[in-house]
Amino acid sequence: MQAPNSPSTTTQSPRYFHVLAKPTGAVCNLDCKYCFFLSKQALYPDSDFRMADDLLELYIRQLLESQPAQVSIAWQGGEPTLMDLDFFRRSMELVEKYRRPGQSVEHTIQTNGTRLDDEWCAFFKQHNFLVGLSIDGPRQLHDIYRVDKGGRGTFDRVMCGWKFLKTQEVKCNILCTVHSGNVEHAIEIYRFFRDGLGARVMQFIPIVERGDANLIPLANIGWGLRGTDSRPLYVQSGKRVTQRSVQSEQLGRFLIGIFDEWVRSDVGKVYVQLFDTTLGAHVGQYSLCVFSPTCGDAVALEHTGDLYSCDHYVEPDFKLGNIRESQMVDLVASARQRKFGADKQTTLPKYCRECEVLYACNGGCPKDRFISTPDGEPGLNYLCAGYKKFFRHVAEPMRLMAELLESNRPPAQIMRWYVIEDAKWKAETAKVGRNEPCPCGSGRKTKYCHGRDRS
Ligand code: SF4
Ligand code: SF4
Repeated sequence: MQAPNSPSTTTQSPRYFHVLAKPTGAVCNLDCKYCFFLSKQALYPDSDFRMADDLLELYIRQLLESQPAQVSIAWQGGEPTLMDLDFFRRSMELVEKYRRPGQSVEHTIQTNGTRLDDEWCAFFKQHNFLVGLSIDGPRQLHDIYRVDKGGRGTFDRVMCGWKFLKTQEVKCNILCTVHSGNVEHAIEIYRFFRDGLGARVMQFIPIVERGDANLIPLANIGWGLRGTDSRPLYVQSGKRVTQRSVQSEQLGRFLIGIFDEWVRSDVGKVYVQLFDTTLGAHVGQYSLCVFSPTCGDAVALEHTGDLYSCDHYVEPDFKLGNIRESQMVDLVASARQRKFGADKQTTLPKYCRECEVLYACNGGCPKDRFISTPDGEPGLNYLCAGYKKFFRHVAEPMRLMAELLESNRPPAQIMRWYVIEDAKWKAETAKVGRNEPCPCGSGRKTKYCHGRDRS
């Protein structure tokens, strides 16, 4: 076995891979009801859930040695700020110790924001961190599921963290989960982030919590400490979903609602991860594993040094090894992990392979592929109907934006096209009554149809 601290000699190493490191494991100060990651504490029953200093050094060293000129160091949890600031100051020292000449390092952290203060935010600003902040919308939507261990809503505490971040002018990315409680409020949520918070970068992540018939009643209580001492370990199996999970068609409508607002007024001003990813797919570039043809280059590191195939597969069957015993780069390059990534493509059902939006969807994440196609083949994504609706809806504007990009013009010019198209549309629909069927053929009355939903 190769010594863990020596450079890897593998010849099959992926040139670039991404690690989500969890210095506190799954431990969090909150108790968000849909957060099945909380159940992963069960993997380490005797742990103190703190990454040791020697492991931190080993991790930073292995990562910087294995990566090319640009490296991303990403902290996540649980709640990573439960490690105190000294842990992150130490990580910066280690980065300086092991960084190669010319190697640039980007730092990111995903947090619930409730522990942030001026000191934290000054540190983030000093080291140019990109901070991902979890917010599910305005108070009444955020507090549905994002609660503390006493079941109290956390909106005020998150807003306090947001203000510290804004005051220090820290780069921020809003991460909003989409679930049964907020999915019907797309525009309200988007405007709250854009206008209420002044956010310019955001991403929307669907909540899909799966399980079998025995697990779901327990899972519906939540994955944290409420209600039960016999909290199950969440694994990616089962064909039912919790009541908090988003429904597929709802997700499609949610994404379309936000897209229709964004594409008319915010292109080039507000960055929505999925829209950017979809535009990338239209020019043959894939930046998000979920919608890439293959995956396997985004692994998760637990506080013990255990490395897992993906953040969504922190479970015994997907443990690749421990970086104290094996080089991280070798674990990522292992045949087992390469197969994990390739399976995303090779296990696609025929229904996906023949799908008109395969180029943008690529079947979605394997963790969500637990329903059957209309002709009975297993392995279709639970979110298929919503994805299909969204990718069809945006295909034409995305094609136009891709053309603008290819002719070295800003995609934001699409907004002019919409001004013209919307004016034409207004004139056309003015000729028919508001209670008449819309000329777009959707079957809706004109007053309920904006004429662009061709999906
Ligand atoms: S399993 Fe899903 S989340 Fe994990 S790397 Fe693959 S596509 Fe990404
Ligand atoms: S939209 Fe549905 S059928 Fe098409 S690639 Fe995605 S999951 Fe497969």
